Amino acid sequence: MSLGVFAELVGQDEAVETLRRAAADAADIVRAAHGDSTGADGSGGPGSAAGTGAMTHAWIFTGPPGSGRTVAARAFAAALECVHGTGCGDCTGCHTTLAGTHADVRFVVPEGLSIGVGEMRALVLRAASTPAGGRWQVVVVTDADRLTEAAGNALLKAVEEPPPRTVFLLCTPSTHPDDISVTIRSRCRLVPLRQPPADAVAAVLQARDGVDAEVARWAAAAAQGDVGRARLLARDPEARKRRDAVLAVPRRLSNVGACIDAASALIEATEAEAAASVVEADAAERAALETALGAGGTGRGAAGAARGTAGQIKELERRQKSRATRAQRDALDRALVDLAGFYRDVLTTLLRAPVAPVHTDTAPLAEAAAGKWTAESTLRRLEAVLACREAIGVNVKPRIAVEAMMLALWRG
Ligand SMILES: [Zn+2]
Repeated sequence: MSLGVFAELVGQDEAVETLRRAAADAADIVRAAHGDSTGADGSGGPGSAAGTGAMTHAWIFTGPPGSGRTVAARAFAAALECVHGTGCGDCTGCHTTLAGTHADVRFVVPEGLSIGVGEMRALVLRAASTPAGGRWQVVVVTDADRLTEAAGNALLKAVEEPPPRTVFLLCTPSTHPDDISVTIRSRCRLVPLRQPPADAVAAVLQARDGVDAEVARWAAAAAQGDVGRARLLARDPEARKRRDAVLAVPRRLSNVGACIDAASALIEATEAEAAASVVEADAAERAALETALGAGGTGRGAAGAARGTAGQIKELERRQKSRATRAQRDALDRALVDLAGFYRDVLTTLLRAPVAPVHTDTAPLAEAAAGKWTAESTLRRLEAVLACREAIGVNVKPRIAVEAMMLALWRG
């Protein structure tokens, strides 16, 4: 059987099975509502009851970064809108959902640090309407952990009393109360995604992206299960250069001054990476807003209009600044994950653990470090990196957290 819309989900057999069953059940529910009670596999026949309980109105997709939370939610949305009810990948329902143009499927993609209440209320309201395509209204919230409390409450109301044909798909790193409220969690069915094994990621890079076998293996290991990151490392020389610079950090920490310098270099590099990632979107939004507002006027009411214009530009600048901050944090987090991988490699070398290294290309460096450090001091270094990630997660100023980490990495 063709994998259809679920083909992009790497190494997630259990989740795919759950979602397939739910989609089949959902298709039966739609058929029953349209007065045709024949089951998806043709076995139902007149009189059989629709709904096996495999389908429900609210779902949470959890898993580590790159495990494919959004990919899974999008694939499931496509399966729900599939005209065959299977997620065939070929019909207009599947195509338009995957392309993001289906009239009944909405994606909430927070660009700043959080999803606001206004946005959520508008969404909930629209999601309550009858699906134009006759199947399901689907709302995908790609970073549900970034909902504000008020937005979470607006969502909770909808999840508690869902309109009959509305489905909410929430993506979040975990079900920890910091990521998703306990009450929302209790109303949702959970789809846990695991970190895909490196060989599964390498196979995808080779088969789908035409990446050379050796590069694919290296990138898959270095990305630690993050498919998107592996793809980027395999194909983008700039991303590779940034990673090399991060992995050079442990060698440079020879005194306090070097630690402060290394912290500055890391912060500046992630700022530059983040700025480059948002510059185009920023310029396009600004141009669009200026066009929409026109070139201003001189007649009656022009002063009031100008005041409104200034407000809209200010609002846009606020949103863009929030997006830039998030892009920088994401870039810094990726760097810290790479760095943690190096200390993990040193530790597994020291302990002679029978596991493959994360960074095959710095394995000689990890071995050299293993000859100098104890397991305890290596573990403290690994913990310093993880503590830095956590500190940034709770809004400690990145520079302060990174400087503290560099000093801890040097002292051991
Ligand atoms: Zn289809």
